[in-house]
Amino acid sequence: MPHLLSKSKYIRGLQCDRALWLDVHEPRLARYTAEQMRRFDRGREFEYAFKDTFPDGIDLSAELKRNVDAYPELTTMYLEKEAEVDLFEAGFLYDDVLVLADVVRKNADGTLNIYEVKSGNVLSETYKRDAALQHYVISHCRSINKFCIVYNGENRFDIIDLTEELEEHHDEIARNIAAMKEILSHGEPDTPTGQHCLEPYACPYQHYCAQGVRQMSLFG
Ligand code: SF4
Repeated sequence: MPHLLSKSKYIRGLQCDRALWLDVHEPRLARYTAEQMRRFDRGREFEYAFKDTFPDGIDLSAELKRNVDAYPELTTMYLEKEAEVDLFEAGFLYDDVLVLADVVRKNADGTLNIYEVKSGNVLSETYKRDAALQHYVISHCRSINKFCIVYNGENRFDIIDLTEELEEHHDEIARNIAAMKEILSHGEPDTPTGQHCLEPYACPYQHYCAQGVRQMSLFG
């Protein structure tokens, strides 16, 4: 089944309703700086290094590539077939939101350990928001034993179990998803630019929005 939202679109939607709309309807307008691309590459290298600590891991992206809507079915196939298995980029779909988990370990009792890999040096609130959405979706599909964030802290891989903390955000996430679906069912929002275009991430649609004259006035 085709998904409507992904983790990146949800995070974008928390920052700006217009950015969410553009991500879904006009993603070709996004422009990323060279520094942003380098940061993506550094993140991927750190993620691959952590995945190397699971030598028997099966990488679903090697087979499915960009066919993201096929990930949940293949994930289910492996989780049903194998008594224990490590999966990379396992896909889960719930509430029209598709998430791909960096590393999923299926335990002998059928529960899952999830590892979401972040290359930053500190455990930021943004990382937690991102993980909370993953937890919301996956916990409605499978039983989670623990949900951990892996980051580049004092040790090479600092692993922190956030399972209990993430469970507390489910109601808020359900409300956010409903609000985002409502936004996407209408035309492009006329949201003015402002400080939110830079935090927590530099929005890739700034050049586009700057063409529309409606700037947030500093003088009210
Ligand atoms: S540039 Fe600003 S107003 Fe435009 S989509 Fe991005 S965050 Fe929203």
